[in-house]
Amino acid sequence: MKKNIAIVGAGFSGAVIANQLAQAGYTVDVFESRNHIAGNCHSERDSDTGVMVHVYGPHIFHTDNERVWEYVNRFSEFKPFVNRVKAITRGQVFTLPINLLTINQFFNKTLRPAEAQEFLRELGDKSIENPTTFEEQALRFVGRELYEAFFKTYTMKQWGLHPSELPASILKRLPVRFNYDDNYFAHKYQGMPADGYTALVERILDVPGVSVHLNTRFDPANKGDYAHVFYSGPIDAWFNHAEGRLPYRTLDFEVFRDTGDYQGNAVINYCDDEKRYTRITEHKHFSPWESHEGTVCYVEYSRQCEEKDIPYYPIRLARDKQQLELYVNLARKEPNVTFVGRLGTYRYLDMDVTINEALVTADKFLACARDSAQMPAFAIDPLA
Ligand code: UDP
Repeated sequence: MKKNIAIVGAGFSGAVIANQLAQAGYTVDVFESRNHIAGNCHSERDSDTGVMVHVYGPHIFHTDNERVWEYVNRFSEFKPFVNRVKAITRGQVFTLPINLLTINQFFNKTLRPAEAQEFLRELGDKSIENPTTFEEQALRFVGRELYEAFFKTYTMKQWGLHPSELPASILKRLPVRFNYDDNYFAHKYQGMPADGYTALVERILDVPGVSVHLNTRFDPANKGDYAHVFYSGPIDAWFNHAEGRLPYRTLDFEVFRDTGDYQGNAVINYCDDEKRYTRITEHKHFSPWESHEGTVCYVEYSRQCEEKDIPYYPIRLARDKQQLELYVNLARKEPNVTFVGRLGTYRYLDMDVTINEALVTADKFLACARDSAQMPAFAIDPLA
């Protein structure tokens, strides 16, 4: 049996699978069409200021998964970092996620936790029993005023759709807190790789048996050269968009440099239509243990992803899921190819979930090889 593996894409999915399989004795070729590894997590030092920049927008590592946390810490020191997002709406600055300070400041009150909980219960639309859309979820749990101030316009800017067309799952990413905890994430572990994500991914790929080919697009027609292919590119691109293009949002960044501290925080969201952009990221605040005179800011705009753009967020509306199903059926008929990651399975995945799924995929492949079983097209069902 051929033991050569092709991996398409050198982001977290590809790198983790490459590492695991190389350690199990396979020879792995990683094909990356860009001129760098680490996918959209790629970070590099800005040549003007020396600031470590998240080139494709802010990435904050957070997880509850012990295996994943132990895994990433094997390849990089993680510095403590807590994401505390600020939001500007109606000419005022608030803290996110919605917490006791947000509620008290917004409504000009001095409520204690239980009182605030009761207050929001009163504001929530109790007639919505089982919220399925983003809007229903928001109206049910925070009420119209907070929804309109913090979520409605931001979401329309971010997704190009009305929140009544989006699934509740998007809003479920954000907690509502009845205390003064303004940590954006509720996970046990949170941090920043000390010398950036690209250095971390580089170390994952730095294992005997793995060869990385940058600036190299893998042609699906060549899959027969390998015993198995793991594909982390867009699933529709593998099939030459035979069932049409799956819709994505892409991001545009307006980059500017300054000196000192531009906004005093890593991320500030702009939640109303005063601004066309969704947020401004000031990258030096992601590395508070470093000091730089200069500063680099990214003003972030979201729009529909066209053919030549970089796909960021999959838009999984009901009709997109039907289109995805067509691709999933094609994929299930494709022998010796496994589809992985955000683009390969068309899902909105955080980094820790991506890494966990890559580990699970590699485990599954090794188990199948041991049992002489066929490795499935998906280790995790993308339609679930
Ligand atoms: N969201 C919002 N207002 C905000 C922040 C987030 O309405 O100030 C909504 C928006 O629809 C967004 C979703 O919540 O897409 C998830 O937010 P998150 O911060 O997780 O988005 P990401 O950082 O992944 O872009």
